[in-house]
Amino acid sequence: MSRIIGAHTVDNGGIHMAALRAGRAGMHALQIFTAIPKYYGDKTSIRPERVQRFREALRTAGIEPANVLVHSAYVLNTATAEEEKWGRAAAGLRKELERSTALGVGALCFHPGAATDGDRAAALVRVALAITRALEAVPGETKILIENTAGAGMTMGKTPEEVAGMLAGVPPALRHRTGYGLDTCHLFSAGHDITASAAALGGILGEFESAAGSPPAFFHLNDSEAGLGANKDRHLLIGEGKIGAEPFRWLLEDRRSSGIPLILETPQQNYSVADDDDTPDPYDVRMLALLRSLSP
Ligand SMILES: [Zn+2]
Ligand SMILES: [Zn+2]
Repeated sequence: MSRIIGAHTVDNGGIHMAALRAGRAGMHALQIFTAIPKYYGDKTSIRPERVQRFREALRTAGIEPANVLVHSAYVLNTATAEEEKWGRAAAGLRKELERSTALGVGALCFHPGAATDGDRAAALVRVALAITRALEAVPGETKILIENTAGAGMTMGKTPEEVAGMLAGVPPALRHRTGYGLDTCHLFSAGHDITASAAALGGILGEFESAAGSPPAFFHLNDSEAGLGANKDRHLLIGEGKIGAEPFRWLLEDRRSSGIPLILETPQQNYSVADDDDTPDPYDVRMLALLRSLSP
């Protein structure tokens, strides 16, 4: 099993419980939120006790901090043309990086947001500026990674060119602390047909790789409820959506899925697991077994 697979596990009881649940499921990667994702969190710091508990839990779980991804708040629209909102989003992203760096995780990923005024070229520059400001303010190793989007409305990051365009705006000296990751559901829903064949999937990954000048730094492994090009972000269990299980075999066989966190963001069976219960979610256990059966 050479692939580093994990999930965004339920964090009832705290992020250390999310880590313990991942460990009990046999995962080698993990994704968490460090603040409530519906809020900006631009004033939310992380207490040292919480950091300590989380790092201990990772050790218990046998998960390397480098294979932990933090998912930022959904509300951070670093692409917006509204100055005040942009300022808050940029501050939120900086704070996300501060919390992620304190936790010592490998990277933080974020949705770049929407070009609210329809000017996508200007939006690319604003996203790059928010990344740059955060990296300048918070030294360290933790990276900021752009996540591709399903492309609803004016959301940025649905094409290789857009992802590359945002990264290109980051000064070269900081570029090694940035990158991008690809969500299979978002790819498909944005119109990239990863289901046609292994070669087609490889070709799409290749387009992102050559546009951005680097391979993806993570994958989100999700099936899609919505059809090809529907631009809807609805995750389903792998094998139960419009993508189906087979493209995940192709992805796991592709060199670009090696050595980076592969994170399930699929539905959980039990969102209300007790705070002190570190039993892994049955759906996650099932998804892990399926992915292992598909892995080279
Ligand atoms: Zn996401
Ligand atoms: Zn999604």
